[in-house]
Amino acid sequence: MKTFKTLIPVLFLIALSFYGYYKYVQFPSVIINGIVFLPVFLAVLVVGLAIHFNRSSVFFYAVTIIIANLVLGLSLASTELSYALLSIFLPLLIPVITMLPERGIISARAIPAYTVFLIAILFSVVVIMTSAEWANYIFLTNWLPPRYFDWTHQSQTVLIISFLATIYMIVLYFLRPSPHVASGLGIMIMLIVQLHSGHVSRSLNIFSSIAFFMCLYAVMQESWRMAYLDELTELPSRRALREKFQKISGLYAVAMLDVDHFKKFNDTYGHDTGDAVLRMIATKLKKVTGGGSYYRYGGEEFTIVFNGKSTNEARLHLENLRELIATTPFVINRASRRINDRKEKNKKNKSVVVTVSIGMADSTKGSSSPWDVMKSADKALYRAKEKGRNCLSE
Ligand code: GH3
Ligand code: MG
Ligand code: MG
Repeated sequence: MKTFKTLIPVLFLIALSFYGYYKYVQFPSVIINGIVFLPVFLAVLVVGLAIHFNRSSVFFYAVTIIIANLVLGLSLASTELSYALLSIFLPLLIPVITMLPERGIISARAIPAYTVFLIAILFSVVVIMTSAEWANYIFLTNWLPPRYFDWTHQSQTVLIISFLATIYMIVLYFLRPSPHVASGLGIMIMLIVQLHSGHVSRSLNIFSSIAFFMCLYAVMQESWRMAYLDELTELPSRRALREKFQKISGLYAVAMLDVDHFKKFNDTYGHDTGDAVLRMIATKLKKVTGGGSYYRYGGEEFTIVFNGKSTNEARLHLENLRELIATTPFVINRASRRINDRKEKNKKNKSVVVTVSIGMADSTKGSSSPWDVMKSADKALYRAKEKGRNCLSE
């Protein structure tokens, strides 16, 4: 279910686009007159937001939708071959943009993205100008009996490539489920459907507006992630914890976790390996039982909140977590070890054990605020360190 969470808004928008497309003629004229300007308004909004937040993927998604609108709206692709090339390259740009790392919009690092656009445009122009024989063969041949395809004017090559690109994006989504890939998939479907419908203004208005809404969804989700998720571990951040504390009341327990001797670990194996350990610990935190919600408080410190539980009820879950971390060996590969350590250099990969100390407190003592409970948990953590680390204290 968690996998589908970010796909649901996109599926909803796709359904809305088909509803809008088929009901278009029944809309009152005032709405139709307004919808004509919707893509322009949304294009300005999306491009403005993408530049403001420096989201290159959303920027290039928007550029693709704008190109589709201009070429279709001005009927620039008038021959069969040019329409086929447009119908192949526009949707194919989307998986490419989705795969490219975020590299800014106006920077030298964004050159690969611009190059992809330029190659697609140049290739199309050259092929169209020369009207090459091979291009007609590849892009316009009927590979299968045409009677199966009388529902569309698109060439069979376009249909096959669109189908493969859609499958590719669906697989990519299930491998890396994120709002970014979900909106990429949605935008690509909107482009494919729009190109199938041709130079029809209701298709241009509806499908490109919905594609821009998918861009907005991607920008909003990305801003939410930046605000509430810690970049290194992808755990909820301290800001998310603060919001949790604003809402929480009644009985609850708070636990503070701190990695043992982490400074020494960093000094021995390097900061990057230290980061990898924090990520490993984050994956273990996500497995905490008892309904505990987890946060990266900062540095090598984490917080777990058990709503509706006392320390007595939370103890077993925390002990299990501490045990899980202490019994999971962390493999340090040779490459990441300090190179100047000659003796170490010749050894094979080795695994080390990382432990955490935990302090916990609950809200049963008087009318204390969540921040006071956390302070008590922090004091308990100090006692756990005193006791010799890799243990739980109250
Ligand atoms: P103790 O067992 O008493 O907790 O010892 P410690 O060395 O873990 O405690 P201390 O607070 O002195 O050191 C915390 C270290 O955590 C210091 C810092 O280098 C490291 N650290 C904090 N944040 C990060 C991070 O994001 N990545 C890495 N690699 N190290 C971090
Ligand atoms: Mg610390
Ligand atoms: Mg520490």
